Amino acid sequence: MEKLTYGTYESTLERSRKLEEDLTKNPANYRVLTGDRPTGRLHIGHLFGSLQNRVRLQNLGVNTFIVIADYQVLTDRDSFEAISDNIRHLTIDYLAAGIDPEGANTFIFPHSHVPELNQLLLPFLTLVTMSELDRNPTVKEEIQAAGLKRINAGMYTYPVHQAADILFCKGNVVPVGKDQLPHLELTRVIARRFNERFAAQKSVFPEPQPLLSKSPLILGLDGSQKMSKSRNNAIMLCSTEDETAALIKKAKTDADRVITYDPENRPEVSNLLMLLSLSTGKTPETLAEEIGEGGSGTLKKALTESLNEYLRPLRKRRAELEQNPDYITQVLTKGIAGARKIAVETLDEVLDVMNMKI
Ligand code: ATP
Ligand code: MG
Repeated sequence: MEKLTYGTYESTLERSRKLEEDLTKNPANYRVLTGDRPTGRLHIGHLFGSLQNRVRLQNLGVNTFIVIADYQVLTDRDSFEAISDNIRHLTIDYLAAGIDPEGANTFIFPHSHVPELNQLLLPFLTLVTMSELDRNPTVKEEIQAAGLKRINAGMYTYPVHQAADILFCKGNVVPVGKDQLPHLELTRVIARRFNERFAAQKSVFPEPQPLLSKSPLILGLDGSQKMSKSRNNAIMLCSTEDETAALIKKAKTDADRVITYDPENRPEVSNLLMLLSLSTGKTPETLAEEIGEGGSGTLKKALTESLNEYLRPLRKRRAELEQNPDYITQVLTKGIAGARKIAVETLDEVLDVMNMKI
């Protein structure tokens, strides 16, 4: 069995750039699959790290599938009361950010509602080894961040489930943040091994490629780890302007008075500069120069104003969508039907090549 290697960030960045070029030229050759866990609402790390890329690709005419990974919530937490509410809020966040579910080519669906997708997990689990799952650096990091004492098997196997999420619709582009790269490497290996083992004549699955945004890792306001729904360090898309201001005010910086852009040595300040860059369109280097002696107070004030202004239209659409729960149900129902249609076809093909048809 060919070796699975996790994490070659530089080569992935390069591949991602090439992919970007071809996507613009030949959007019809691609199908996008991405998603989020319904563990809370979306934050600006999602927006800048992945969601904006999804919207852009959708607008280029690429088929877009967005999976809400509800089973995955159970990997690292006990509570499940909020799943349904979170599914609806994620959907609202997507639509507010510009995902257009009215288009014939966009589908939003929770994977629990697509049984044929979930069934792919079973053959896929036989294509990876326990030690490969055990070595996954993102899983290790998440186990540590969640402080888990008793780790369930779902935690180790959810990257395989994610392969089913991507491959059921033969997704070949996955716009993700940096934390997802090991998972995507696993999906590529599963696709390859499946084809080699069961479909040597004619491949069933493509090897999907990650598409990184300009900001593949937005740090949390604590500065030391990625911004995350579950780590209490995020600016949510649904936060009010005052809440946003208060969160930025509390954000960690460092003792150096003059502002410079130096992601390696000054991660906290550089992260704030990157956020300011994303909401103004200026480069972080230019912004650092402009602010310079003004120090972190000036930086935070500028970020609060720019970010609130940048998010204002999105937040307005969000508030309107919240008033229309029936519409959200309709969007999800359509998404589930579209995803299921394709999942049934793929499972049929899979059972056929595995010699399991009766
Ligand atoms: P949780 O804490 O519940 O795991 P999360 O904030 O990590 O939530 P996910 O639903 O796990 O969010 O991730 C959804 C997508 O958003 C993935 O593609 C992931 O790479 C991307 N993403 C999440 N956080 C960031 C971030 N801080 N910067 C860039 N991209 C991010
Ligand atoms: Mg996560």
